[in-house]
Amino acid sequence: MNEFENLVAVVTGGASGIGAAIARRLREGGASVAVLDLQPEGADAAHFAVRANVADDASVRAAIAAVAAEFGRIDIVVNNAGIGAQGTVADNDDDEWARVLSINVVGIARVSRAALPWLRQSPSAAIVNTGSIAATAGLPARALYSASKGAVLALTRAMAADHLGEGIRVNSVSPGTADTPWIGRLLEKADDPVAERAALSARQPHGRLVAADEVADAVAYLASPRSGSTTGVSLEVDGGMQNL
Ligand code: NAD
Repeated sequence: MNEFENLVAVVTGGASGIGAAIARRLREGGASVAVLDLQPEGADAAHFAVRANVADDASVRAAIAAVAAEFGRIDIVVNNAGIGAQGTVADNDDDEWARVLSINVVGIARVSRAALPWLRQSPSAAIVNTGSIAATAGLPARALYSASKGAVLALTRAMAADHLGEGIRVNSVSPGTADTPWIGRLLEKADDPVAERAALSARQPHGRLVAADEVADAVAYLASPRSGSTTGVSLEVDGGMQNL
């Protein structure tokens, strides 16, 4: 299905995990895909990969300008770059709060702000933000990360209202624990990574980790005109975790 033919999509954090699956899925749908990533080397699915730090406004503006210069348009922005943070409020100091919020929340604002002049010219403009089930699940020892993803939900709804009149839809996906290098890095720290992976899978309502491709399909739906009457929502891809 070439639903994204002639459209240009920007995917932040598109060199690994969920972002790489999103880049692949959008490309399969016919989009020209530009990846913005701290480490763009792994962005195999991208037509164009730019080194960019979503926590740095000058870096973001330069990267979006480079994408626009390359393709002459931007239609879809997937704000997916994000980092984790473990601990309770007792564990993370102000610097850590500022660092994580700057990437997970302000990063979305920076990339969207830089891309808006292009999105306004698109007949098929969509922004999709990657949230997390952590926004609503009340996970232990994830205070800062959960707060950052809660802010992603709020920001998504606010942006949806702000840009409705400009024809720009803004939605988010909220993945459950997904099988990506991020989780791989966490498992490596366990005494028995194989047993830990099995235990983690068993803790998911559907008995397994979420596949990055499942999240990518949800993003593709929200990025496509098929969801043309949908804006401001969070689409959970979590095996039912939000119902527990
Ligand atoms: P990942 O670590 O595999 O990939 C993240 C990518 O983002 C990497 O390529 C990294 O280089 C890039 N990145 C990180 N900081 C950046 C920055 N400042 N500027 C530009 N690029 C940056 O992680 P993932 O599991 O694919 O996670 C992707 C998104 O999905 C994140 O927003 C994460 O919060 C969210 N998420 C992940 C899970 C999960 O279980 N894996 C669950 C829910 C939500």
